[in-house]
Amino acid sequence: MEERGGPGRYGPVLAKVREELDEVEEAMKRVEDGRYGRCEACGSTISAEELDASPLARRCLACS
Ligand SMILES: [Zn+2]
Repeated sequence: MEERGGPGRYGPVLAKVREELDEVEEAMKRVEDGRYGRCEACGSTISAEELDASPLARRCLACS
């Protein structure tokens, strides 16, 4: 039974948005801490190209 237009229809979408928002907040914290753009696994710098492609990347290509 499908709930058309009800909140249930958007629940999964909103959960995904919430998740993305958390990712963004996490990235902002890394900017404040000066950790943004650094791989959290090996500590090496994530390339600008990589950050352009995925600004929320936490790991370099080798570690992701
Ligand atoms: Zn790495």
